[in-house]
Amino acid sequence: MARYIGPVCKLCRREKQKLFLKGNRCYSEKCAVAPEKKIIPPGGFSRRFSRKESAYNLQLREKQKAKRFYGILEKQFKKYFKIAEKKKGVTGEILFSLLERRLDNVVFSLGFAISRPHSRHLVRYSHIEVNGKKVNIPSYLVKEGDIIAVREKSRKNKFVKEAIEEKLKAGVPKWLSLDSKNLKGEVIALPSKSDVQIPIQEQLIVEFYSK
Ligand code: SF4
Repeated sequence: MARYIGPVCKLCRREKQKLFLKGNRCYSEKCAVAPEKKIIPPGGFSRRFSRKESAYNLQLREKQKAKRFYGILEKQFKKYFKIAEKKKGVTGEILFSLLERRLDNVVFSLGFAISRPHSRHLVRYSHIEVNGKKVNIPSYLVKEGDIIAVREKSRKNKFVKEAIEEKLKAGVPKWLSLDSKNLKGEVIALPSKSDVQIPIQEQLIVEFYSK
């Protein structure tokens, strides 16, 4: 599956928001969009960046922000939107519930990885199992009751250890439970939009695709 491989801090600067794509650096003073810093957009300050944004541009930026946060390219993101649209309920809410349920997002949320790109790597290279079986598909959607664990052979991985220590300080989202000793977690409920770690106005994304 294709993925973005360019500089990631640039993406946060473009969205004027932390997207947490670089592990511990994102929580340090080195972060390019730390609260006390003036955010310099990619390419420097331009008239285009500082002028009042159109409704279309606001919708586009919100969609781009969500895609970048979850590390998904346009084609796949649109596919999630189409699935959400066909389901009964509020499209924007369903869209983010689907995105949160991706295995790479769950592995990061449980604290087995230092960032979403790292969790994607762990899944792709078969370090993760679901209900006792190896799963190497980052887009795999977890269900209520699923048990997600780091496979036996990867439990001593120093990056996994480092990540779980950080997670113990921050805590896991309420829809997941973590057994940090055994590097194992359970989906205890399905996620909702309120479980998304950064502020995103889902309605703007719905409006973007509804044109
Ligand atoms: Fe870079 Fe992380 Fe800061 Fe984004 S949040 S600018 S990825 S350090």
